[in-house]
Amino acid sequence: MLTALLNQQVFTTIHHSREELRGLRRKDVSFVCPHCSSILTMRIGSRNIPHFAHRSRADCELMRGETPQHLLSKQLLYDRISSLYNQVSLEHYIRELKQVADIYVKTDTAEIAIEIQCSTIPISDIVQRTRGYHRRRITPFWILTQPLKSKKLLNLTSFQQAFIRYSPSLDYFLLQFLPDRSIFQLYTHLLPVSGTAFMSGAPITIPVSEFTLPPSIPNEPVHPPYSLSKWNDFRTKWIYNKIHYNKARTDVFLREVYEEGDTFLYLPLYIGLPVIPHGIHIRNHEVEWQYYVWKDCLKKDRLFSVESVCKALNGRLIKGHIELRSFPLLKSEEVIKIIASGYLRLLEEVQVLRKINDAFQLTEPWSCPDHFSAFEQHRHVFFPKRKHILKKL
Ligand SMILES: [Zn+2]
Repeated sequence: MLTALLNQQVFTTIHHSREELRGLRRKDVSFVCPHCSSILTMRIGSRNIPHFAHRSRADCELMRGETPQHLLSKQLLYDRISSLYNQVSLEHYIRELKQVADIYVKTDTAEIAIEIQCSTIPISDIVQRTRGYHRRRITPFWILTQPLKSKKLLNLTSFQQAFIRYSPSLDYFLLQFLPDRSIFQLYTHLLPVSGTAFMSGAPITIPVSEFTLPPSIPNEPVHPPYSLSKWNDFRTKWIYNKIHYNKARTDVFLREVYEEGDTFLYLPLYIGLPVIPHGIHIRNHEVEWQYYVWKDCLKKDRLFSVESVCKALNGRLIKGHIELRSFPLLKSEEVIKIIASGYLRLLEEVQVLRKINDAFQLTEPWSCPDHFSAFEQHRHVFFPKRKHILKKL
């Protein structure tokens, strides 16, 4: 922690030089934790930011041990934000919530609590803290400072995915803070190709010296910054992985496909289309949930509606066949309905469906290719149509 009480006054290490702090330490003055009143030790190393620590970890419920990354993040963001606003405090205790916000900002119109998250915590904790802030009419602003695995694709743990937010110009995006480089990185237009891997554009860099609340985005990309031509390769890869790593007898989805008499390897290409951008809410691969939609609706009824597709998807959610990603920083109302209409619109554009008033109907009876040459034939017919659609997405 960076703040303590000295003679009942708030004392912050970042406002003093190392020399001044060493002088105080020699005088043997008592720094006290503002939350639990226990005596604190001042730590002045050469690498980390000078900070306070409890003598015993068990002492304090509110201020647990912090990583050097967390201390540095707090200092950098506090310096930047206090250059923008007058009322900014560090490690601010909110009595009603029994919570300490890393940085707290009071503007003319709003109260903002900045939460810097370095370590992985249960997503339910993020949900709970976020709700607490909203109850007090405080806007929480969560900042992720974990390193991300990114090569051709961005790989995100469930915890890191919990920091995904949405804006109409950036689609689903993730903001990451890198204190060692004093920059933020913004990954935009996230498109999952599996439960953990995402396509995205090259990250946009925002130096901490240009950070604002909310962040203003330089040079916004107008179009998705990647090509969708790779989509089908990832879809095929996912199918092969599924066959390779799952036993057909134990995998609920594969069992259903086989029992239905369909050939998993040669499912029609309109099962597994990217529903951009909101399809990201469903954690399962597009092949899975869109196969369920086909089986529960398209095949059964001569005519069906967006509502019947929603009902089918909700039923699959209840059975646990599909699940939604946890996005605690997003409002996720009506997401199933938005995804269902998005998918049906795509199917209409690739002429798998035709619309009759508010209902839909298959243009041709279903047939799942059952051997390689039938599948090749389907590819041959389908791809020219789909190419045109994907360009528009
Ligand atoms: Zn304490």
